[in-house]
Amino acid sequence: MNIPLIDLTTQYKNLRTEINAAIQAVLDRGDFILGQDVTKLEEEFAAYCGTKYAVGLDSGLSALELSLRAFDIGSGHEVILPAHTFTATAAAITFSGATPVFVDVDPETMTIDVKKIEVAITPRTKAILPVHLYGLPADMHAISAIAKKHNLVVVEDACQGHGAYYKGQRAGALGDAAGFSFYPTKNLGAYGDAGMVTTNDAKVAETIRALRNCGQRVKNVHELAPFNHRLDSIQAAILRVKLKYLDEWIASRRRLASLYNKLLSGSDLVLPAELPDYQHVYHLYVIRSKNRDALQSYLKDHGVGTAIHYPTPVHLQPFYTKGEDKHGQFPVAEQACNEILSLPMYPELTEEQVEIVASEITGMMVSAV
Ligand SMILES: *Cc1c(COP(=O)(O)O)cnc(C)c1O
Repeated sequence: MNIPLIDLTTQYKNLRTEINAAIQAVLDRGDFILGQDVTKLEEEFAAYCGTKYAVGLDSGLSALELSLRAFDIGSGHEVILPAHTFTATAAAITFSGATPVFVDVDPETMTIDVKKIEVAITPRTKAILPVHLYGLPADMHAISAIAKKHNLVVVEDACQGHGAYYKGQRAGALGDAAGFSFYPTKNLGAYGDAGMVTTNDAKVAETIRALRNCGQRVKNVHELAPFNHRLDSIQAAILRVKLKYLDEWIASRRRLASLYNKLLSGSDLVLPAELPDYQHVYHLYVIRSKNRDALQSYLKDHGVGTAIHYPTPVHLQPFYTKGEDKHGQFPVAEQACNEILSLPMYPELTEEQVEIVASEITGMMVSAV
């Protein structure tokens, strides 16, 4: 029996009629780019996150990059981010023209270590870009307090955090702006590339609307940088269908995660942090093991799909080391990358499948003793 890390086909099968009808309606209308489904998705997603505005874009990466640009962050500026994240967090900073400044992560939560942010601030620092890694919000109140003291902008990387809660507020409403990705495997995923910015700042929303569409605030007046980061209407139509089910899917992910937690609690694995006043949405269910590589190959041999998110911290990626040896700069992130393993997690995974994965893991640990 094979249990994949993720399965996108069951969800489509369940929603086939609704999704096909939504796509057909776009085909019949012909408003393929920035059409009526884009406008409606923006309204519905802003309402879901509890923000005044949402702007649809073509990816999570461009959502983060345009957010920084809308705050006039670029060349000569520095932006602080965690060393342990997906490369796109740093790429957004690089493409804005600013310099990414990495900070180590907290050993328990794996999100940016708020105690290490202030020492990284320089006169060139303009923003903090925390990541709600794996679906667990970063410690946003602590981050906002530091930002306020140093007059910095906070842009959330919420690309893994759709629907996550932190102290009564949803991801997307916790900073000055937030970037979301609707890459197909995300908790809210399109059937192609798509993204969104949420914000309560009218000027930022308006600037991003212009930036995504050839720099036009007014038709045929190309005032700002003439990018193309538009969202297509077929993706928006699919996302509107799926948004209605997001909370149900999050509940399912949380139920499966708590079953994993229960079944693996006696082992010597480090399990994901569940914190009071945080709602982790388990985009990924990530455990830590000192014998990660052996565990991963054992599970592979027993038909269980796993992955490593991510095997290399961003500061050690060749694009950022520029040939220098940067090992040892962020020890917590570097150690985490050697120990983390993502187990099967998606809303349609069954409890029986979780039980099988857990028993394979505990069985392997018993036989290794
Ligand atoms: C997916 C992801 C991104 C980038 O999103 P794309 O839509 O693939 O551009 C950025 N940051 C994090 C943490 C992500 O998981």
